[in-house]
Amino acid sequence: MRCPFCRHADSRVVDSREVDEGQAIRRRRSCSACGRRFTTSETMVLAVVKRSGVTEQFSRDKVVRGVRRACQGRPVDDDALQQLAQRVEESIRSTGVAEIPSHEVGLAILGPLRELDEVAYLRFASVYRSFSSVEDFEKEISDLRKAVGKPAAPQDGGESAGGE
Ligand SMILES: [Zn+2]
Repeated sequence: MRCPFCRHADSRVVDSREVDEGQAIRRRRSCSACGRRFTTSETMVLAVVKRSGVTEQFSRDKVVRGVRRACQGRPVDDDALQQLAQRVEESIRSTGVAEIPSHEVGLAILGPLRELDEVAYLRFASVYRSFSSVEDFEKEISDLRKAVGKPAAPQDGGESAGGE
């Protein structure tokens, strides 16, 4: 690991410790030329296996890009998207696998996205699960209502109690 101060190519490890519940190792290094110290972090590479069989490194940015499209016009800011991507990565890493099929990344996105924004969730799910009919949406919406504990109240005419 090259020294970030003097660019010397050699350094020695003076301290290592596990962080993020053992999912990463942080090392304190000392440059053998200038003696300055810096920290490096080592994490397991999480590989995503695409349908074609090609693997690529898991990328939070890709998750953000995929979800951002579904969030157009919704009150979801970049911070929220970053947090969502972090939750997705943590949930995948917590399963302890080194490789994950790309469609399972989509699955891991669904839960946190549903908590973040229901409309964005429906958009994402419709593409991801290839909704092909109104019934697919109806079923998803009714599942969504059950999951969040909202009564399936009619959208219009429901506010008329006490009126007229
Ligand atoms: Zn140095």
